[in-house]
Amino acid sequence: METNRSGKLWVVGAGPGAVDLITVRGRALLARADAILYAGSLVSPEHLTFAPAHCEVADSSGMTLEVMVAWLLERVRRLEVVVRLQTGDPSLYGALTELTTPLRAHGVEVEVVPGVSSAMAAAAAAVESLTLPEVTQTVILTRTEGRTPMPEREQLRHLAAHGATLCIFLSATLMPKVTEELYQAGWSVDQPVLVVHKASWPNEQQIIRGRLADMTALCREAKIGSQAMIIVGPSLEAAQRPDNRASRLYAEDFSHQYRQANR
Ligand code: SAH
Repeated sequence: METNRSGKLWVVGAGPGAVDLITVRGRALLARADAILYAGSLVSPEHLTFAPAHCEVADSSGMTLEVMVAWLLERVRRLEVVVRLQTGDPSLYGALTELTTPLRAHGVEVEVVPGVSSAMAAAAAAVESLTLPEVTQTVILTRTEGRTPMPEREQLRHLAAHGATLCIFLSATLMPKVTEELYQAGWSVDQPVLVVHKASWPNEQQIIRGRLADMTALCREAKIGSQAMIIVGPSLEAAQRPDNRASRLYAEDFSHQYRQANR
């Protein structure tokens, strides 16, 4: 095994789109990066304006995993701060393990900086809560089966049977399949659905609200392609419902570690 001479690989979550939704730590790393390999298909090139003039930059969108590993390895051996800049949070659908395993096998030190996931940015864009007391307290982050196969136990119809909130990645072009699986799980035609395209991207964000029955048509009309998040769950549009439940945490008669109930 070869040892790493000087550099370290930082896998940094760039956040969902807007350049000011990267973490402070992520921005500071960009500012002292000697090399940045960024996912150009989903990460704004505006992030690169924060890098120093000497920084080597490459877009990974046309690269295979092997080419990316080789690019990073070469830089890490001769430079100090090497950044892999990915969309959202690196732990979600980011090929983090596939990328870091061969590099670590070469003795490269790796550290991950988390990012704001598009699931959170989509909920924020629509001012929606993914959890609601007594309604749903669970969020499932998933996708539908496309070219990447899903384990049978994680088919959407099984996950949806829980009735919890679903944030469905990588599936906006598969809306008919999503709808069908949700019906199979017992969800109704008038279940509210939220689709957010390019959440947080300035001037590009689109918020589409509909029901399971009409969402496929609405997405088609709006020409929603990739970079869209599907959110469906019982907490959606809670503000408009008369039975809206307030969190017990803020109730007058609810004591907790930081506050004594006043009745
Ligand atoms: N690591 C990323 C996900 C990468 S997979 C994250 O944490 O967000 C790519 C998928 O993420 C897309 O197919 C889409 O479902 C979702 N996505 C990424 N950016 C998005 C955005 N700005 N708005 C809505 N969905 C987005």
